[in-house]
Amino acid sequence: MSQPSLQTIRKKVEDGVRLSAAEGEYLFRDEVDLHAIGELADLVRRRKHGNRAFYNINAHINPTNVCIYRCPLCAYSRDVDDVDAYVLSDEQLAEQARQAAAAGCTELHVVGGVHPDKPYEWYLEVLRVLRFTAPRLHLKAYTAIEIEWLSRISGRSVRSVLEDLIRAGLNSLPGGGAEIFDQQIRTVLCPRKPDARSWLSIHRAAHQLGLRSNATMLYGHVESAEHRIDHLVQLRQLQDVTGGFQAFVPLSFHPQNTAMPHLPRPSPLLDLRTIAISRLMLDNFQHIKAYWISLGLGTAQAALAYGADDLDGTVRQERIHHAAGSETPEVLAVDELRRLIEEAGCRPVERDSLYRPVRRDGATWHVVAEPDAAQSSSAGDTPYVFSPSRNDRPGTVR
Ligand code: SF4
Repeated sequence: MSQPSLQTIRKKVEDGVRLSAAEGEYLFRDEVDLHAIGELADLVRRRKHGNRAFYNINAHINPTNVCIYRCPLCAYSRDVDDVDAYVLSDEQLAEQARQAAAAGCTELHVVGGVHPDKPYEWYLEVLRVLRFTAPRLHLKAYTAIEIEWLSRISGRSVRSVLEDLIRAGLNSLPGGGAEIFDQQIRTVLCPRKPDARSWLSIHRAAHQLGLRSNATMLYGHVESAEHRIDHLVQLRQLQDVTGGFQAFVPLSFHPQNTAMPHLPRPSPLLDLRTIAISRLMLDNFQHIKAYWISLGLGTAQAALAYGADDLDGTVRQERIHHAAGSETPEVLAVDELRRLIEEAGCRPVERDSLYRPVRRDGATWHVVAEPDAAQSSSAGDTPYVFSPSRNDRPGTVR
């Protein structure tokens, strides 16, 4: 097989042909022109979305920072008896949900630590409280790591746990806990955490139940380009089977306050390269998210020209990345998000959690299109096999 080159890769991208793992690794070489890669990623992004760029109005709720795993990569988690360990009470959960609903949020993003002393029922109750308090809001809750723990402590199958969570109010899964799939790297980053097989099988089970999910990748620590591409290829393979992933979210590593503070932060150039290559490799993912909390506002805005089509949300009370030294604000005003998008030459489109366009008047909102105009395939896209049966639950849209 011939060596990869930018010329052959460009031709494949223009023709809508899938890139190989070797070609992905080649694009991570420093000597390969970043701007040329960005231009190709922008071509793919425009084919899928034109000049639209998405954002949503959401709130993060982190029910506890106590976590049994205490991963070296994590600045957020605490032991049960640490002075700054917390567990939100039902009243506090309800108050955060109430505030989010009053502010016009369409989504609650709910992730936290794996608390060793909390029973199975507590995790269900968290969702019930949020669902009861904010019945219209989409609940994107619990990473595959939390779900694996629930399966373990209850002795139930993952499918059965997910069914219980759906009954309690769950609408979709976030993409956290994926880190980097390679086990050698996981041994450094998160040695006690469930492995890649577990993460992938939980998302597969969720998709089989009709739930949508996202996928993340934590990069810029001790991994190589080979590990990043292996991660992307494994996600692409699962997406070929289920079609249940909505968005890919590359997460830039923040070393501050972790057990790896000696590592440098990834450069903005690596951030942009990773986003662009993700757009090129993940031909069967509709959305690439430039998560401004992790990237910083400047890089997230630039990422809209390097393959990303989504800036994520306004986000209230972000704790996880700020614990690791993120210098971004904790809340971004809608006007500021829209300005960032417009300055990048894109048209801002507010979306709900399923990428359906939202029309709003202050805190009042409704979804305007069904089926999802933002999600639908355009020429050259791999068709979706996914049927969103569980996602149109009462309370998610008006
Ligand atoms: S990264 Fe997640 S699983 Fe690991 S310690 Fe932090 S909260 Fe726990």
